[in-house]
Amino acid sequence: MGTKHYDYIVIGGGSGGIASANRAALHGKSCALIEAGGIGGTCVNVGCVPKKVMWYAAQIAEAIHRYGPDYGFDTTVERFDWERLLANRSAYIERIHASYHASLARNKVDVVHGFARLADARTVEVNGERLTADHILIATGTRPARPRIPGAEYGLDSDQFFTLPALPRRTAVVGAGYIAVELAGVLHALGSQTHLFIRHETPLRHFDPMLCETLVQVMEADGPTLHRHAAPRAIVKNADGSLTLQLDNGQSHVIDCVVWAIGRKPDTSGLGLEAAGVALNGTGHIQVDKYQNTSTPGIYAVGDITGRIDLTPVAVAAGRRLSERLFNGKPDAHLVYEDVPTVVFSHPPIGTVGLSEPQARLQHGDAQVKVYHTAFTAMYSAVTRHRQPARMKLVCVGPEERVVGIHGIGYGMDEILQGFAVALKMGATKKDLDDTIAIHPTAAEEFVTMR
Ligand code: FAD
Ligand code: NDP
Repeated sequence: MGTKHYDYIVIGGGSGGIASANRAALHGKSCALIEAGGIGGTCVNVGCVPKKVMWYAAQIAEAIHRYGPDYGFDTTVERFDWERLLANRSAYIERIHASYHASLARNKVDVVHGFARLADARTVEVNGERLTADHILIATGTRPARPRIPGAEYGLDSDQFFTLPALPRRTAVVGAGYIAVELAGVLHALGSQTHLFIRHETPLRHFDPMLCETLVQVMEADGPTLHRHAAPRAIVKNADGSLTLQLDNGQSHVIDCVVWAIGRKPDTSGLGLEAAGVALNGTGHIQVDKYQNTSTPGIYAVGDITGRIDLTPVAVAAGRRLSERLFNGKPDAHLVYEDVPTVVFSHPPIGTVGLSEPQARLQHGDAQVKVYHTAFTAMYSAVTRHRQPARMKLVCVGPEERVVGIHGIGYGMDEILQGFAVALKMGATKKDLDDTIAIHPTAAEEFVTMR
């Protein structure tokens, strides 16, 4: 076995790993990036990117079938070509792979394709080769979880969803988080008879209640069909190839496809963490401090494997800040995991940053909290028979009414939130928003005109 030495070895070529390796290389460090699967990791291959393409396809389907006719278009569609959509999606992902490889090559990062295992705190084994480094980053992400019930193997996880050869006629989506809501919305809009099964009263129940309530209201009016208090008990495969999803409330549903969207879990088996002395926390994620240090000096972890906030920009920001700290003389560089804006690509989309109203009341007390909200019909849908609600909320605290939470659901919310997240991060008050002139006619203007 030969041994090659680097300043920095990154295990995992997903959002966090690539960002950190590129940043280290820009500061002149020798870097190796080891990836067992597709470059770009979850986000590019089985996450944000293919999901967003499917969401855009769903938006187009809604424009054609739901809104187009009332805008005067004859929108008769002969056929929806699922295979063509997937081919174009794959071609787009290939272009992203090529651009990632080009930037890693430009930065002189050695990309190694293989499964990495820590042999000790400074040594990584991959493809029978030993690589050593002064610093090692673990950015190996998480995997979709499956329930431990009979017949679970008949269901698809979100990775497998993206390989479906055709749009299923009848689909059950099980779960209540981002992925369940997003995939159920896509399947429904593209024409699958879609049922969403949740264990509690609402999906996304940890979000501000206004968001969940409005989402449920839209689902009840337009679909997918929501089944509350419906936890999966078993799946039975029928003679005709269909599946029966049995629920613990005694009901059962015959469908053609089940999608599990019940969360993601870390998988550190085979990574050699024991050999390097890297500790896990109670949920099996790698334990890190605020500087992304693991329990072993010289080994760090970022992204989903740390179990903090599982979002691509969070993994990217943590990875870049780590490289700034290690390789660019910024000893205090670290990510603050607060006020992280996020969007759920539901129908309509949800945007949220900061404290929900219940969180603000708990943290600051009722007397300190003032809430502003507005409800209206999204103008895009207002001239059609499918009038879609939009709701927005500002959560403010203290006599100066500092804005600590911004929440919205409605057409365009996915693109509206980012700028308002800057305002919240900068400590904007309600008066700052009031002093900002509205852009008319938009939905966003409601955030600066609330009374
Ligand atoms: P990953 O991107 O998961 O990368 C980890 C990489 O490590 C993988 O490529 C894996 O093959 C590799 N690996 C693992 N073990 C080894 C090993 N031993 N040796 C070598 N390589 C190894 N986030 C958003 O911000 N917006 C979205 O819209 C969004 N949509 C999503 C939709 C879906 C369906 C899913 C599943 C996730 C979505 N996310 C979204 C979350 C986002 O994808 C993740 O937060 C992000 O990819 C985490 O990046 P990471 O670098 O931590 O890990
Ligand atoms: P989440 O953790 O967001 O949601 C999973 C939910 O499924 C749980 O909260 C739980 O909700 C429910 N659940 C758990 N176990 C079961 C079970 N056995 N049966 C039925 N329901 C169950 O996970 P996701 O997989 O949706 O997404 C993982 C992460 O990826 C997200 O948290 C997010 O950070 C990221 N992501 C981001 C996206 C974006 O930015 N737009 C899109 C997709 C993913 P309850 O307790 O209410 O039943």
